[in-house]
Amino acid sequence: MLERPFFRHPEMLASAQRVASFARLRAQKLDRDGAFPEDEITALAEEGLLAAPLPPKLGGGGLGQDAGSAALLAQVLMQIGAGSLPLGRIYEGHVNALGLVLAYGGPEQQRRAAADALAGRLFGVWNTDDRQRPLCMEGGVLRGRKILASGAGWVGRALVTAATPDGPLMLLLPLSRGERADLSGWTAQGMRASATGAVDFEGMRVPSSALIGEAGDYQRQPVFSGGAWRFLAVQTGGAAELLSLMCRHLRELGRDSDPHQRVRAGESAAALETATLWVERAARHMAQDALPPEAKVAYVNLARGVVERAALEILTHAQRSVGLMGFMRPHPMERVARDLATYLRQPAPDLALQMGGAFVLEQEGGPW
Ligand SMILES: Cc1cc2nc3c(=O)[nH]c(=O)nc-3n(C[C@H](O)[C@H](O)[C@H](O)COP(=O)(O)OP(=O)(O)OC[C@H]3O[C@@H](n4cnc5c(N)ncnc54)[C@H](O)[C@@H]3O)c2cc1C
Repeated sequence: MLERPFFRHPEMLASAQRVASFARLRAQKLDRDGAFPEDEITALAEEGLLAAPLPPKLGGGGLGQDAGSAALLAQVLMQIGAGSLPLGRIYEGHVNALGLVLAYGGPEQQRRAAADALAGRLFGVWNTDDRQRPLCMEGGVLRGRKILASGAGWVGRALVTAATPDGPLMLLLPLSRGERADLSGWTAQGMRASATGAVDFEGMRVPSSALIGEAGDYQRQPVFSGGAWRFLAVQTGGAAELLSLMCRHLRELGRDSDPHQRVRAGESAAALETATLWVERAARHMAQDALPPEAKVAYVNLARGVVERAALEILTHAQRSVGLMGFMRPHPMERVARDLATYLRQPAPDLALQMGGAFVLEQEGGPW
């Protein structure tokens, strides 16, 4: 049983930094198919970070629940993403799942989820369906499977979306270690340690107590699209790590006084700062009521393009500055570049920008 954590803001950031340092040390070892950062998840639990996003009345630290602590959550996600992008992805899914249970679950479901998070159980959100066999539920029995499910085989509480005769529903399902998971299809270039696999739910019986919210809640705005700011924070952390690896390499080789290298370092730092400012502002916007929902969604949709462009610019600069050595194992840049390039692929980026642009065009007095 974990000790009940005591939450204060500076401590939560320091906790994230400690876990990130630990994850950074082990990331090379975990860069293989089928790997999962089990000890790092334990470290997150021991530092209280699995329970931190719960409100204080449920034993948490309220991390991410108002504008100030949403900016803190952004920093926590950036730190963890800098230490390990696979770990950042898994932690982001955990935070997302708890947020959905808190937003749409009943009091008893919230209480149980809080007890699980306090006990160190890992949550995840699995929305992506197998095209041939999408997840659906009829008469309390599931058919089909999820794909691209991070932490498959490791997540103990999976929040999945399933089509039902009443519309799409969220279900919170308990899973044991390895249950129904298949990681054989996860052959991506990077993010190997995220255990992003398929999970086959065929024949699973679902009690009514597992149903979270009402049909359509998962896609309700602004939470559905606006929640993307959290993966942007993790990606920004990965981009920061890449820049730091690039600068360290150039210093160690005595190549840091070259004007071309300085230009690339300066441009990368500016791009990173831009991404960071957008992510922190997106986090604040999402946590406060001042903006209408469509403005929040538009801001996050545009932030997606900003972070993607910044990260790709840093990736290109880092690879050009370090050169071939940055493509050779075990140089850490080789792995972080692969992880970042893979994790930058998120759903419908063109549509996100287009929708953000449409919102801007509709506004008379400036969008925000
Ligand atoms: C490491 C990792 C972990 C993940 N973990 C999870 C998880 O735990 N749970 C989960 O549910 N999902 C997970 N995912 C999946 C993720 O949410 C997205 O589904 C996935 O990353 C989509 O990437 P994509 O490039 O295929 O997107 P797409 O949306 O297919 O985009 C690819 C390209 O096609 C364009 N495009 C999109 N739609 C159209 C269209 N209709 N017509 C024309 N062009 C179009 C896009 O703009 C883009 O240029 C994970 C993904 C990664 C990389």
